Amino acid sequence: MGANLPDSSAIIFKVPVAEKKIYIREQQGYFQRLRRGLNIILVALFAGLPWISWQGEQAILFDVGAQTLRFFSWVLYPQDLMIFVLLFSLAAFALFYITKKYGRVWCGFTCPQTVWTLMFNWIERRVEGTNHQSRALDNQPWFIKKSAIKGLKHLVWIVTASLTAMVFMSYFYPAYQLYTEVMTLSAPALISGWVLFFAVCTYVNAGWIREKMCQHMCPYARFQSVMFDAGTKLVTYDKHRGESRGPRKRGSNKNELGDCVDCKLCVQVCPVGIDIRDGLQYECINCGLCVDACNQVMDTFQYARNLIHFKAMKPQKVWNGALVLYGLAILGMLIGIWVWAVTRVDFEVNVARDRQQLYREHYSGLVENTFRINVLNKSNHTATYYLSISGLPVATVTDLTIKHVKPGEKREAVVTVGSTPQLDEARQHFFFDIKSGESEQVLKREVIFIYPE
Ligand code: SF4
Ligand code: SF4
Repeated sequence: MGANLPDSSAIIFKVPVAEKKIYIREQQGYFQRLRRGLNIILVALFAGLPWISWQGEQAILFDVGAQTLRFFSWVLYPQDLMIFVLLFSLAAFALFYITKKYGRVWCGFTCPQTVWTLMFNWIERRVEGTNHQSRALDNQPWFIKKSAIKGLKHLVWIVTASLTAMVFMSYFYPAYQLYTEVMTLSAPALISGWVLFFAVCTYVNAGWIREKMCQHMCPYARFQSVMFDAGTKLVTYDKHRGESRGPRKRGSNKNELGDCVDCKLCVQVCPVGIDIRDGLQYECINCGLCVDACNQVMDTFQYARNLIHFKAMKPQKVWNGALVLYGLAILGMLIGIWVWAVTRVDFEVNVARDRQQLYREHYSGLVENTFRINVLNKSNHTATYYLSISGLPVATVTDLTIKHVKPGEKREAVVTVGSTPQLDEARQHFFFDIKSGESEQVLKREVIFIYPE
């Protein structure tokens, strides 16, 4: 029955074959250069961003205790949830769009799991030698040389994992302070604990679990194949050209053979341990390493390149419904982010009626209502807020300013408002206008004034 399944079903249900350790052979070529270039930029950004300073503070910092995210001059609070929803939705739709067009290139070129796996493999190749030398070493009994080589590799892995954990934690704890405290062994136990936790996660993930994370744990790897269609560019082996495969000498006559010389280089370089010549498989992360390897072999035999290549079964339709929808969603998210950015107010205000007493009749003849006004300063500077009232006849207010509210501080002010009694109305809607003295932004809050019946 399995043999009759269409290709897309096979991608989803095929049982993984590579359960043994994979010795990834290093490969040079166009896609390897592309990935290395991308990875260097991404890792440099990851490590460097926490060191950028903005107005005397770390430019990007998630302060878990204060529940804020500082991003240059913005300080985001849980009340700014909308921007996170928009950003995550933008990232998700961008990923869907790219997957629909180019398959799992996110996995193959930019996913941290792949980046760190290949980084750890690079270290392994430097310390243990080629993939064949690595396998031979594993098959040897433990002796001094093997212990020294393995020990060195794990030591470099542990240092790399620890540095990764430090960089990651410096998004949550001021970078300079973190590095100083960890180096001088004076970091709080909680911070040291988290650094240790992330270091262990990185070491285990990139050193040991590797491709099994993608095959057995990552949910995205499982569902993204449903986004493929005939127009998606996937790494494909040209069966008609390659078969029947078989070894031969360089420059010899091919006779009945196809272009595949059965060198298995494409299998040796594959980080997930599959043979792309068996057809499309869900483990394939579209990394292009087998394309580089096979092109190198084709060059050696002076055959045409691209026996293995990125190919779509059919050209992608210009008006592909799903791509248009993803594109529109991306545009919608970008517009939403722009609107959020230009309309964002750098403080929050909540106005609540004092529940102790609905109203008071003052000896001056005015009716008084008391309100609790909570101001949260979401900017990164100390601010003073000015209150005014509109829509209430002859209104008086006990205090019109909330002074020197520090960044991130929430201040409550109790304000008593007086108004002339109304003969025909028991309630009157009116507005508190709260203006920031620094940014000059104004928030309006509608409330109800209660008169005696
Ligand atoms: S089959 Fe090729 S493209 Fe797919 S994961 Fe292996 S090396 Fe990468
Ligand atoms: S690298 Fe190319 S020639 Fe060698 S086995 Fe793979 S497909 Fe065949």
